[in-house]
Amino acid sequence: MLATLEQLLILQERDVKLQRAQTALHFLPVEEQQIAARLATQSARFEQLKQDARHIESERKQLELQVADKETAIRKFQTHQAQTKKNDEYQAMSHEIDRARRDIDALEERELALMDQYDAAQKAVQAEALTVKEHERVAAGQRAEWQRKQAVLQEQAATLTAAVAELQRQIPPAELAAYRRILQSKGDVAIVPVVNGNTCNGCHMKITQATVSAVKAGGKIVHCDNCGRIVYWPQP
Ligand SMILES: [Zn+2]
Repeated sequence: MLATLEQLLILQERDVKLQRAQTALHFLPVEEQQIAARLATQSARFEQLKQDARHIESERKQLELQVADKETAIRKFQTHQAQTKKNDEYQAMSHEIDRARRDIDALEERELALMDQYDAAQKAVQAEALTVKEHERVAAGQRAEWQRKQAVLQEQAATLTAAVAELQRQIPPAELAAYRRILQSKGDVAIVPVVNGNTCNGCHMKITQATVSAVKAGGKIVHCDNCGRIVYWPQP
């Protein structure tokens, strides 16, 4: 095989690997964002549960205040009742006192229900705290793995970039420029083997017999008649 073609093939191999490393590096931040997003969702859920528990507790305290108000009212009614000389007023106060006591009973019943709800909410908060901790542990592991992957890829990319630059200096500029042009326009590979005796492995079209002969002869760089990629005869 032509020495330049051999060099171009090695260059292509390095280019492909470099491209792969760069693509992987490009997508790494997405991975990191996914880890962060999962943590944020978890944390929001935790905050919501804590808020639910606080809400129940403040509702219960509200009822406690209402009970205290009713008790104050009862004491006032009782004072009034003790001072009055009128029978109908005395009866009215008794009635008010009974009503306030019934209200207090109802309020205290709701308070008990809220206390049960608060216990359940607190348990949910505690359970969620464990889940959050576990998620943070997993996320820390993922982050460490992510950083390890990034370091490996960066190292690979740097090594390949240097290797590509080194090889490019050894390839005749015209051939190198042609290779770069084809690679740029095709986006995948610039050099492909002839397969099945007469087919370009880039565009999968048949090439002419004259081109096949030229490729086989190996005296110069030959391009596919259809797609323009550089074609070579696969070594047995
Ligand atoms: Zn082709």
